[in-house]
Amino acid sequence: MSYTPASGGEHTRAVSPPPAAVPAERPMRMPVHRATTYAFDTSQDYADVLAGAKQGYSYARIDSPTVDAFAEAVAALEGAGLAEPVRGQAFASGMGALSTVFMALTGAGSHVVASRSIYGNTYSLLDRLLRRFGVRTDFVDITDLEAVRGAVRPDTAVLFTETLSNPAMTVSDLPGLARIARESGAALVVDSTFASPAVCRPLEHGADVVVHSATKYIGGHSDTTGGVAVASPSLIDRIRSARVDLGPCLAPDEAYLLHRGLETLPLRVQRQCATAAEFAAALEGHPLVERVDHPSLDSHPQSALAAKLFDPGRLGAVVTVHPRGGWEAGMAFADRLEVATIAASLGGTHTLAGHVASTSHRNMNDAELADAGISPGAVRFSIGLEDPRDLIGDALAALGGN
Ligand SMILES: *Cc1c(COP(=O)(O)O)cnc(C)c1O
Repeated sequence: MSYTPASGGEHTRAVSPPPAAVPAERPMRMPVHRATTYAFDTSQDYADVLAGAKQGYSYARIDSPTVDAFAEAVAALEGAGLAEPVRGQAFASGMGALSTVFMALTGAGSHVVASRSIYGNTYSLLDRLLRRFGVRTDFVDITDLEAVRGAVRPDTAVLFTETLSNPAMTVSDLPGLARIARESGAALVVDSTFASPAVCRPLEHGADVVVHSATKYIGGHSDTTGGVAVASPSLIDRIRSARVDLGPCLAPDEAYLLHRGLETLPLRVQRQCATAAEFAAALEGHPLVERVDHPSLDSHPQSALAAKLFDPGRLGAVVTVHPRGGWEAGMAFADRLEVATIAASLGGTHTLAGHVASTSHRNMNDAELADAGISPGAVRFSIGLEDPRDLIGDALAALGGN
């Protein structure tokens, strides 16, 4: 029973003010529920919700209406083309999502096959942290399906890749990988951060779990850290239960911002992808540029695959430019940019640039960089919402050096 403190003491009345109205009209923005705990009318209701016998909310790390609304909004976008419903879980960061998904799907003795070309922290999560717990990962060239097939074993629990990988914008053959995963009983887990659901929906191509760093395109404004995973209800239950134990829950205020970011995701990504394609075409063939990586270019090794898997005209908004002249020329090129800003991350409204070999791929030696197709001078651009001609003019001026 709740106590109405009309005649209570000062302190009792101070912590029990009259409740805010719950409007009968539907608010046109999602309410933010910041409460970490929820009141029940009876002990039985409390017990039933905790036991899962009754739908409801008890404690914010376990479930939160605001956070769930964000996760289900992403699930609705990722699962738009599927016959069966899918569900989402949200996390405090992309790494929170990835570590929880791996903890949910593997255990001591499990085997993982992962792309060699993945986000640095995902690589060290698999190669160091999870290896200590008995999860063995083999890294392969994900564009070589025969190599992938050769690495997968009967005890492989997870086949892991990224839809688009950094910085060469390598496209994963999701239907081909899904076939290999299905044959061996492994779950295909796809980090689709660089694509976002406005470019590609991996579940439609046979993936079992799709994961995002929502910090990037989903949030879209470089002001919120978050992550999300989408899968079938049975897989998402396992992921949720691991999340509840591990604890990387998303905060309600962050969920609100990410939920709002989704409203403009298609608009932003459509424009960013169009500008990226224009930017890539304008720089390719420049006398001071050795190569440009973007799936819209015929010179990109997976341009045909990208056209098959991705939405028309939306082939990603990261472009990597390889200027001639090596490391020094690449650093100087980035330093001379005025519209694009030198900064980490991607997917925001501003165009960001970074010299690859000294930043995101600083742990690779010359041979490893060459093997991964990364020239010593490569500069990665995350294209924002600026006018294309301003970005192109900026890059051309920076290349010319004046
Ligand atoms: C940024 C990123 C991550 C990690 O996400 P955080 O939100 O920074 O934890 C994982 N994968 C990819 C591809 C990313 O770009």
